[in-house]
Amino acid sequence: MQRPSNPYSSAEIDRSSLERDNDERMIELASSGEARFVPIDSEKNLVRSGGSPEAVFLQGMMGRAVANIADHSIFLGYVDGAPYFAIDITGKDTPASGLGEFVDLRQVGALLFAKEGSILAYARGMTYWHRRHKFCGVCGAITKVVKGGHVRRCTNEACKTEHFPRTDPAVIMLVHHGDKCLLGRGKHFPRGMHSTLAGFVEPGESFEDAVAREVYEEVKVRVKNVTYRSSQPWPFPASVMIGFHAEAESLDFEVNLDELASARWLSREELRPENMPKDGSFFMPRRDSIARRLIEEWLGHEAGPSING
Ligand SMILES: [Zn+2]
Repeated sequence: MQRPSNPYSSAEIDRSSLERDNDERMIELASSGEARFVPIDSEKNLVRSGGSPEAVFLQGMMGRAVANIADHSIFLGYVDGAPYFAIDITGKDTPASGLGEFVDLRQVGALLFAKEGSILAYARGMTYWHRRHKFCGVCGAITKVVKGGHVRRCTNEACKTEHFPRTDPAVIMLVHHGDKCLLGRGKHFPRGMHSTLAGFVEPGESFEDAVAREVYEEVKVRVKNVTYRSSQPWPFPASVMIGFHAEAESLDFEVNLDELASARWLSREELRPENMPKDGSFFMPRRDSIARRLIEEWLGHEAGPSING
């Protein structure tokens, strides 16, 4: 059975990746009346607030005017038949700012319709990559934008290296043993928040290897039966979270204080909503996060995270 996808997943976006190779088609789409532009200013997305927040997509004359001010348009694909483009207007004076407010997507993501959240996350991830890859990492020459904004090619004729948008995989895992699961507190977590363990995958590692290494590094626990659950795009700034359940070999653990502030085993009983302390001294991650879903699934609540749409 197909389980529900996590917030920011982009199943409803037809990326139409083969069209990116056709420069003329890209120009034609961007100048068509159907085009929608997703403006980004310093990693922030444009949202209209008041009541429930809504993503602002620019179209028509306004859209094209703002797109002309941006350095380039990045083809995201089609949503409900309309072509969408991300445009980075950081540091530029445009009329877009009169249409809403630029906010960090994580502040409003859980309140947006799922489809809008996906488009905004995708646009944010792409513009972030472009801003950090203006120069070739091989020879240092300037790179130019090609393939609808999905490649930056080195302009040095002797080099011509193509650079692709990067997504850094991170594993996130709920460690459990019998009727208990292990939740930790990162050093920068808000007071009271406890979550699953997580960490970046290193070169030469499988996801399962990374799960075992990260758990051992953080709490000195050996795990077995590492099973994949689901994944979540996390372009804050450039990750995808790959979620697992992993069984601890024993309840013994030792927190590595260089990595975590604390960790503790919690029983299913302790995690029942009615047993949660009301003073904020313990709470779980937000409902739109894969961390929360991994915990809820282990508790036996199969439903995906609650989000609009
Ligand atoms: Zn180069």
